[in-house]
Amino acid sequence: MIVATCHCGAIRIEAPRRPRSLTDCNCSICRRYGVLWAYYQANTVRVHGAPKALAGYVWGDKRIRFVRCARCGCVTHWEATQPAVTSRMGVNARNFDPGDVSGARIRRLDGASTWKYLD
Ligand SMILES: [Zn+2]
Repeated sequence: MIVATCHCGAIRIEAPRRPRSLTDCNCSICRRYGVLWAYYQANTVRVHGAPKALAGYVWGDKRIRFVRCARCGCVTHWEATQPAVTSRMGVNARNFDPGDVSGARIRRLDGASTWKYLD
């Protein structure tokens, strides 16, 4: 199990294992957030935080919600807005201890256009 926290500690995420790869996506939202995504089955991840600590953002087709800390502003994860969308979720690997992700391969996803990996 590895742990990700926002800067102030109001949100704590427990994931089952170190990610083997991370996704650097160039879509309109990910490039602005500057995040690296580690993907997990959503039912293997636990998100701890007071309800008021979690602020969400949805846009477009509203299939996924980007969640950030309402206090310190760090983007912590995305999650499906409905179970039918996907069983996966993305955890922002920037919030893991750097040593926990130093061995992960970083893959560039062309989310802005083709939805294909560029490597
Ligand atoms: Zn915070």
